[in-house]
Order: sequence, then structure tokens, then C-alpha cells
Amino acid sequence: MTPADRLARLLAQSRRAVVFSGAGISTESGIPDFRSPGGVWSKMTPIGFHDFMADPALRREAWSRVYSGAARWTGASPNAGHHAVARLVAQGKVAAVITQNVDNLHQASGVPAGKVVELHGNASYATCLACGLRHELKDLRAAFLATGEPPACRSCGGVVKSATISFGQSMPAGEMARAEDETVACDLFVVLGSSLVVYPAADFPLMAKRNGAALAIVNREPTPQDRYADLVLHEEIGPLMSQVAPVS
Ligand code: ZN
Repeated sequence: MTPADRLARLLAQSRRAVVFSGAGISTESGIPDFRSPGGVWSKMTPIGFHDFMADPALRREAWSRVYSGAARWTGASPNAGHHAVARLVAQGKVAAVITQNVDNLHQASGVPAGKVVELHGNASYATCLACGLRHELKDLRAAFLATGEPPACRSCGGVVKSATISFGQSMPAGEMARAEDETVACDLFVVLGSSLVVYPAADFPLMAKRNGAALAIVNREPTPQDRYADLVLHEEIGPLMSQVAPVS
């Protein structure tokens, strides 16, 4: 039985699966894993949430990074792995996609936004930290590039920040609750491209396992949770998932 057959069999046995994705699903779209050598954090220091709030100069720096594309988090296209996951969602096989990624590529591949749970936010838009209003990056671009002044909320004047969860920023309560609900409701939890070392996100696979779900881990490198999994595949995600969920 091929690796793809083994994962396909688990999916066939499942009535409600959840996909949990990390940086490894997006490297095939040209987005380097930001924690790895060559990734964005090996080239520039992340700006933590408290520094962003306290220091106007760092706030300007954060916004200049948004528009320079320094992190390469936006502008990429979904790859075969994202498209295969989108097919599984469309077939009703996968109930939700919990992701550590901020690149918006699950939505771009056709997964309805309501079925994507973003634990670390989304780099493709911004939000007001005071009132929560969504701001589109393209609407803020001209004024920032002209003045160098970080944007203020058009509704309340509050601080506007890329909708990612920065270091030191609290996890989004609503998304964490949704992720937990989906995790305990599933009978198969499929990790795609996460090294499972970043907490609290990495709590979810074992939460699923404790709750009786089968656990499958697909990642190029071994993870600390491999020994708890029912299936471990050290494979490239795009080619594997294209076989697991072929275009029909
Ligand atoms: Zn506001």
C-alpha cells in the first residue's frame, strides 16, 4: 500500500475529518518557513506586539515591512496541496481547516472562509486593535507610502495592525474556541506540514487523539508527536495530497 493509499484509507473510514496545516503546506508555493534557515526570521527580527504598541518607530517599521513584502507572506498562489484540501472540504470529507499560516492560501484555493480557523491571524488584511474593524491593505497603502505614518482606524482612530498574531500578542479567543470545537468533533485529525513545536497550536493534535480521533501526521521532518500518531508520512504534501484527493 502506498503512503497515499494509507491516508486515503483513513479518510475513507472517517465521517468528519479536520485538517491542521502549518508552514510546510505553503513552502511549495514559494513561502519559506519563517522559522527555518533562510526564512524571514533569520533575516530580520520580528517586531513583538508590545514593541509595536509602545514604539511609533517600530510601528512604522512594521508597516514598511507590510508594503515591501519583506515576509513574502502575501502574493503567492495556492499549490497542489491547498487544492487537494479544498476538494476534500468541497466533498464534505473535511469539516474545517485549522491553520497556523497567515498566507490566506486555503481561502485562495476555494475553502470557504467560514471553514478556515486561523490561529495566527491573516497577513492579507489589517484590523483596528480598538474596535476590530477590518481594513484592506490596498486602501491604506497610498497614504502610508506618502506620509510614512502608520494608519489609524477610519472609524475610531485606533491603532491599526496587520491581522497577524504577533509574538507577545494573545491568541485569538474566538478562533481558539472554534479550533477546539472542531478538534473534539472530528474522528480524524490530519496534520499537513507542521513541525508541531509552536504552542498552544500544537496542543490540538493530541487533544483530538485523547478524544478518540485517529491522528495522521504528514510532514517532511519528524515531529515530537509522531509517536502518538496512527499514521506518519514524511512526504511532500502537494504530490501526496494530489493522489489522496485527485481531481475527479
Ligand atoms: Zn477602530
